[in-house]
Amino acid sequence: MNSKPFKHLESLCAAEAKIRITTQPHKIPLFASSAFKFESIEDGIEIFKNQPGSHVYTRYGNPTIEAVAQKIANLEVFGSDLAAFGLLTSSGMAAIHLTIQTILKPGDSILTQGNLYGGTTELFNKVFGPQNINIEIIDFGALDNLEQSISNLKVQPVIFIETPTNPTLQCIDILKVCQIVHKYKGLVIVDNTFATPVIQQPILLGADVVIHSTTKFLHGHGVSTGGAIVTSNENLFKAIWETQKLVGSNSNTFDAWLVNIGLKTLVLRMEKQSENALQLAQYLSKHPKINKVHYPGLPNDTNHQLAKQQMKKFGAMLSFEVGSEYQDAINFSNRLNHCALAPSLGETDTMVLHPASMSHLKIPIETRLKYGITDNLIRFSVGIENIEDIIDDIEQALA
Ligand code: PLP
Repeated sequence: MNSKPFKHLESLCAAEAKIRITTQPHKIPLFASSAFKFESIEDGIEIFKNQPGSHVYTRYGNPTIEAVAQKIANLEVFGSDLAAFGLLTSSGMAAIHLTIQTILKPGDSILTQGNLYGGTTELFNKVFGPQNINIEIIDFGALDNLEQSISNLKVQPVIFIETPTNPTLQCIDILKVCQIVHKYKGLVIVDNTFATPVIQQPILLGADVVIHSTTKFLHGHGVSTGGAIVTSNENLFKAIWETQKLVGSNSNTFDAWLVNIGLKTLVLRMEKQSENALQLAQYLSKHPKINKVHYPGLPNDTNHQLAKQQMKKFGAMLSFEVGSEYQDAINFSNRLNHCALAPSLGETDTMVLHPASMSHLKIPIETRLKYGITDNLIRFSVGIENIEDIIDDIEQALA
């Protein structure tokens, strides 16, 4: 490389500044660079051949993004001998889209549940349906149905589940689903956003792919939007990476970097938030103005036994019915002073959402009601506050 100084000032302005590092930074650096420089053209040719893994262009791969993706992958298989590979995407939706777009082709089927996060249901119906991908809804509470549907399929079974589900906290038996699906050489994709790997590790129960909206608990502070895909199947990882490289739905470096900061306190947050959610669920289940509480940590919840089996804690999410009508939920929400009316979850403060008018607005009312997403259902993402303050806020709103 030519190290002679420039003759002209404007050339020095245009050139990249020289970096000098004497010691390793304590925090991972933000490699905010679209492209990576080669020592020589031969070096570049070699690096281009060895993808993924070496760096040419951030859409193909970036050291900051890869470090965080690998950390999430390691968390998903922590405590086992399995190796896992991770990718970070621009959002949780991009993670779901990228995985399914890679695996399925026109004429294939995806078997899923009717009570997914509303955005995922819409993605399936509005984006994959028109691509001639058949969306089959299964009752995962009765797994005989699953085996029957799979045995009738002429194509590889691909299953997408979310457990616990958003917003009714239904739990699905990951181990049993995987055992059935793998008998027929199928693939199981699990959205682990609500539980996080601190509470539930679907790959260790047999899942082929785990999806996250890192926007939620993994980042935990509400200033980063992103998604993650984790698999222990290296060929599948390479195939998804190839689609991501072409589609360009990768995370940006800053969002990835922020997720890493959030991950440092993930265990502390999940412990405190789960503890708070349990206390809140117990309080709500005794309140005369609350009709139904969905929380797998309550001993009389239909998901309790399964949750105890596959989850280490019961998580920070719960939902409940206030009064009997749409307006009861609206009035209650408007009277809250401290709990934030904000359509996200997994942050340090308690957040409230009315699914019927927000996350599930575009889901046909009959479908929504069939899965218990009633007009008066309210979803809470419980934060790290002192739970007494949250209960006081709810108490005055209900009074
Ligand atoms: N999966 C679940 C369970 C969700 O709740 C959400 C969003 O709320 C998503 C995926 C989509 O994530 P994002 O908003 O990051 O695209």
